[in-house]
Amino acid sequence: MKYQVVIGLEVHTQLTTNTKIFCGCSTKFGSEPNSQTCPVCLGFPGALPVLNRQVVEYAIRAGLATNCSITQRNVFARKNYFYPDLPKGYQISQFDLPICQHGHLDIEVEGETKRIGITRIHMEEDAGKLVHADLSEVGDDSCVDLNRACTPLLEIVSEPDMRSPDEAIAYLKKLYQIVMYLGICDGNLEEGSFRCDANVSLMPVGSTVFGTRAELKNINSFKFIKQAIEYEIERQAEILDDGGKVIQETRLFDPNTGTTRSMRGKEEAHDYRYFPDPDLVPVLIADQWIEDVRAELPELPEAKRARYVAELGLPEYDAEVLASSRELAQYYEETVALFPQAKIVSNWVMGEVARALNEDNNRSITDCPVTPALLADLLKLMEKGTISGKIAKTVFDEMYKTGKAPEKIVEEKGLVQVSDTGAIEAMVDEVLNNNPGQVEQYRGGKETVFGFFVGQVMRASKGKANPAVVNELLLKKLKA
Ligand SMILES: [Zn+2]
Repeated sequence: MKYQVVIGLEVHTQLTTNTKIFCGCSTKFGSEPNSQTCPVCLGFPGALPVLNRQVVEYAIRAGLATNCSITQRNVFARKNYFYPDLPKGYQISQFDLPICQHGHLDIEVEGETKRIGITRIHMEEDAGKLVHADLSEVGDDSCVDLNRACTPLLEIVSEPDMRSPDEAIAYLKKLYQIVMYLGICDGNLEEGSFRCDANVSLMPVGSTVFGTRAELKNINSFKFIKQAIEYEIERQAEILDDGGKVIQETRLFDPNTGTTRSMRGKEEAHDYRYFPDPDLVPVLIADQWIEDVRAELPELPEAKRARYVAELGLPEYDAEVLASSRELAQYYEETVALFPQAKIVSNWVMGEVARALNEDNNRSITDCPVTPALLADLLKLMEKGTISGKIAKTVFDEMYKTGKAPEKIVEEKGLVQVSDTGAIEAMVDEVLNNNPGQVEQYRGGKETVFGFFVGQVMRASKGKANPAVVNELLLKKLKA
C-alpha cells in the first residue's frame, strides 16, 4: 500500500433526556408517528424554543470526560437547508461557539497508546424521519414522522488523527464506553442513538498534505463502520492509481453489498448560512456549574481499569473486561465487597456469570438472577470447603435457573463435600483394587497415571469428595 489513510470521525449521540431539547415533548422511541409533537418541534411560525437545561449539563459531562475545555458563553446557530424532514427549514445547532473544545482521548491499538484529538462537541436538535414507499405499510407514498424532530444530540467531532480502520474502531468504542458510563446515551445502536460519519482520505505515504476526503454518512454499527472505511480505502486507492482525482462528496454505505455510493456533493459550512438564532439567548455557564458537574462524574473506564490492576491486583485483561461497562463493573465490585478475593471473583464473573447470561439470550448483568450477594455466598461455601469447585459450578447453574440461595441447593441436593477420611479411604481402596494394571504402571514410574486415579475416586464420590483429601490418601497408598 503506497497510501496513508487519514480518518476523522463525527459521532452523533442521542441524549437520554425525557423531553426534547427545545420543547416539552417526549423523546420516547417507537411511539405512534407524529404523536410526540407540538408547535415548536413542528416548526410552526411564531412558536418559540426553550432550552432544556439537562442537555447543557450532559454536554458539560461529555466535555469533562473527554478532556475538553468548556465554553462559558454559548450561542445557538441556525443551520439552513431544505429537506422534507426539517419543517423549520433550518436546524438549531452550534457553530463558532460550541460548548466543548480542544479535548482528546487515548486509545490503544496493538499495545500502543495513541492520543486522538477532539476538535469540538456541540449541542443540536435532530431532524424528523422519512419513511419511504418501499415499506409496504405506507403504500406508494413517502411519509414523514416528526417524533424525532428536536430530539437532543451531541455531535462529537474528532481531529483527523486516525490512520487505520482499527484506530477508528478503538476510538469509537472508547467514546461509546464513556457516554454509557456518563449515563447520557442509551447506547442503542439499532435505534441510531450512537451513529457515526467518517471522513476518509488518502495521501501518499510520507506526505503531510491530506488528500480530498469523502464523508461516509450515518453508520450505526462498529462492524459496518470498519467495512465502510475499508471499502473506501480500496475505492480511493484505485482512483488515485489510475491517475484520477477523488471528489469531495457525501457517500452512503450499503451493508448488503459492503460498498459505498455517492449521495450528494459535499457542502461547505458557508452553504448553510449559519447565523445566531434570534429566538434563543446566549447560554452563560458559571464556573460553579462546571465544578458541580465535575464533582459528580462517575469513575471512568480508564481510571477504573487502572485501579483494578493497582489496588486489586487483577491482570490487565481482567481489568479491561470488567471495566468495559459500568453495570458489569458494579456487579463485580459489589461481589468483591462481600467476598474480598478479587481474582476468584473475576474468574467467576468473566466465566460462569458471563457464560450463563450469554446463553440466556445475552441477558443484561443488571437482570442476572444470581445477584452479587448470592454469588458471594456461593464462593464462601467453596472457600469453607463445604463444596468443591466443580460442585460449585453445578450449584451456580441451579441458582441461575431458580434464584435459590446456594446453601439451600446444596442441602436439597445433598451436595456437601465429603472430607471424612474414612469414607474417602474406602473409595480409594476400591479404585486401587479394581485397577491393578494402572497401579503397577504408577509404581513402575509412570506418574501421569495419578490423574486417572483422582478422576476415578471423584467419579465414585459423584464429585463430592474433597480433592485435597483424595490426593493425599492416593499418594499415601500408592507410595506405600
Ligand atoms: Zn414538541
